[in-house]
Amino acid sequence: MLAAVKRWLRGPAAALADVTGLSPARGRASGRAIVAMYHRVLPRDDADFRAAHPGMVVSLEAFRMHLDEYRAHYDVVTFGELVRRAAAGPLTGRPLLALTFDDGWIDTYALAAPEIAARGLTATVFVAKCFVESAARGEAFASVAQLRELQAAGWEIGSHTWSHRELQGVAGAELEQEVVGSKGWIEDALGTPVASFAYPRGKYDAASSALVRRTYDAAVTVESGYFVPECDRALVPRIGIHDAMTSTRARLRWRLAGLP
Ligand SMILES: [Zn+2]
Repeated sequence: MLAAVKRWLRGPAAALADVTGLSPARGRASGRAIVAMYHRVLPRDDADFRAAHPGMVVSLEAFRMHLDEYRAHYDVVTFGELVRRAAAGPLTGRPLLALTFDDGWIDTYALAAPEIAARGLTATVFVAKCFVESAARGEAFASVAQLRELQAAGWEIGSHTWSHRELQGVAGAELEQEVVGSKGWIEDALGTPVASFAYPRGKYDAASSALVRRTYDAAVTVESGYFVPECDRALVPRIGIHDAMTSTRARLRWRLAGLP
């Protein structure tokens, strides 16, 4: 009975100790890093905030708090930099955190980026060719010119495919275009190499992940987990940051500690 209780306690208690900074495992935990996943950042009174799927949006108010928390406790780097540092040797010192944004929404450029720049930080945005081009038609995505501005501010621009289709079952020339073609298109548009990739809606199969592995240094999924040195670079998990579960500092810490 007592053993069962102790077993039950070990998980939550260890996680809580980690949150509060009391855990002896903290040193060990510094070998892992966080890839935080964002989509949209919008003011709470924005109609799009209320209309967005809860898993797709974080309020601008909460986002500012998140950045202050990250800056206080993590070395914030681009996803590509996180992967390079992990390849160069053990991750010691302050834990690394990479801020990632999927899709390239206009609010990533117009609302999130200024907050990030104001704190001297950078981030990674994964863009799909179809979304970037739709900016010229007035859709709510960042244009090539705006992505160039982000790049000039130290951001990493990664690929999120050509047409933002889910990749499982896609093969041949179509898969080639989504994975390899999108990389070339962004590189031509921005004039720099693209090393990182994000699977649309996190979907992949053996063929698509194999092609991604051959084409990019690293890629992210939407599976939940920490970056650890031994993880598969073509299938790096992330921690999804949604407004409801991160609206207070305590909730954000709880989320980053790996609790549901
Ligand atoms: Zn997406």
